[in-house]
Amino acid sequence: MVVVFLIGFDSGTVCTVLLEQNDVFAFKSISEDDSEYSNIYSSETITEIENATTNQTTTTEITTIEPPTPVRNMYPDMTVEKVPFKEDVEGDKVVYITFDDGPWEGTSQLLDLLDQYNVKATFFVTAQYLEEDKLIDALKEIHDRGHAIAVHTYSHDYDVIYSSVESYVKDFHKMDDIIFRATGERSSIFRLPGGSNAKYSSDIRTDLLAEMNYRGFVYYDWNAYDGGCDNYSIDGMISKAVREASAHDKGILLMHDTKAQSFILQTLPDIISQLRSQGYRFDRLDASVKPYQFETVADTSQVTTTPPIEITN
Ligand SMILES: [Zn+2]
Repeated sequence: MVVVFLIGFDSGTVCTVLLEQNDVFAFKSISEDDSEYSNIYSSETITEIENATTNQTTTTEITTIEPPTPVRNMYPDMTVEKVPFKEDVEGDKVVYITFDDGPWEGTSQLLDLLDQYNVKATFFVTAQYLEEDKLIDALKEIHDRGHAIAVHTYSHDYDVIYSSVESYVKDFHKMDDIIFRATGERSSIFRLPGGSNAKYSSDIRTDLLAEMNYRGFVYYDWNAYDGGCDNYSIDGMISKAVREASAHDKGILLMHDTKAQSFILQTLPDIISQLRSQGYRFDRLDASVKPYQFETVADTSQVTTTPPIEITN
């Protein structure tokens, strides 16, 4: 919730009445040459602001914000504007196929297969398998061939990313930056390694989810999984993926794009054909798709702006 006041003052004392001890405000001058006020101040610093005020009339915008924390101040550009979720359409059956953990040297083959079956998918990517130049080329190719790309993590190292919220945000930003350099776009969706309820993240989970939510990012878990990490046979993976995805009108199917799981090239054609014959279409995820989440947090990202109130003096 953001409350904006526009205050004109010429003696430097007007805003005192609006402030209480321990309140924290962002002061942003909207006059042309008064950038000294574009900072975050606590009420303890109000005296300084008053003293700094000259007799000149200045219009100042005051915005209430969450108290700054070290992590909140990291990468201020790592925020996205939330879009409203689309309503699910009755009778519309859709599967969002998602590939985690890649890209790797073999990703092009997967892209060829998806082209062959005219399917667009979503890649939750990492930097685990390719040197940076090759990684950027691979991400560019995924993007240019019409698929969605979003952050899974840079390192995919649970001990690193889930050691603290700061550490997660740092790792996320690194991957987000590479995606931006490759595609010119920043993603507003992501997937947490192990899912939003991963046991590895339990110590920091609430704060982590709240932080990413505050920054506007939407995370997607899954409601269908091909069993690729669980030693299923090819036939077992096909039937598991089809059974689980078709249990929902909106299936979010988890698969992996790695060398170890390149068997998906054998399972995908049947998975796609069988779901298609049941009336499903395939699409890419974007932030307007209502997510499926194992663990949820209260949405703190919806910013409402109150029309500014002019105070004349
Ligand atoms: Zn993963």
